Amino acid sequence: MSPSSGECADGGAQISGCAVAAAAEPAADPLFPPSDLDPGQADAPREVSERDRRFMALAQAAAEKARAAGEVPVGAVLVRGEEVIATGFNHPIGGHDPSAHAEMAALRAAAQALENYRLPGCELYVTLEPCLMCAGAIMHARIARVVFGARDPKTGACGSVVDAFANPQLNHHTSVTGGVLEAECGQALKSFFADRRRAIRAERAAAADAARERGPAEPV
Ligand code: ZN
Repeated sequence: MSPSSGECADGGAQISGCAVAAAAEPAADPLFPPSDLDPGQADAPREVSERDRRFMALAQAAAEKARAAGEVPVGAVLVRGEEVIATGFNHPIGGHDPSAHAEMAALRAAAQALENYRLPGCELYVTLEPCLMCAGAIMHARIARVVFGARDPKTGACGSVVDAFANPQLNHHTSVTGGVLEAECGQALKSFFADRRRAIRAERAAAADAARERGPAEPV
């Protein structure tokens, strides 16, 4: 892996290019409007194990790395038993890579660490419901179980938009648990977009003030 690919040797998928993302122009139209991430509307697991909470908390910590880099805060952790094999965070902007979702980063780093393109017996924890691309990669990797936090009504491929894992012709390997620390994971995304909207408003207000100070343009 080259340093610009978004992976590093320790499997943590730390990326050198993320600093670039902080300078990226925030989009005016957020990917996840806050109303789409209201927790509690989907079925949450009745009982969340201490183990699932613990590993999801690690995925949440990885998501904060994405936030710090100006990326949508989604994080993932890949574990085998009690061992953390790799973590990854969302970084498509800084990585100039549409496939650089948190799950992909964790899968790539884990496959490198284990020197195996298949990862049987492993579980992937991710703070946001995987998209179709990530669901496909998860199936190719033969991941045993996916655990996700917030549901994604825009691109979720574990039941919200489509359920890729429910198709027995596609999926023979992966079980899915959704809604683990759902409210907390959703809140991290909501606060990110709220901050971004605030920053855009402040920028526009400053630009309007500057225009007022300049006064009306002189007629030519
Ligand atoms: Zn994805």
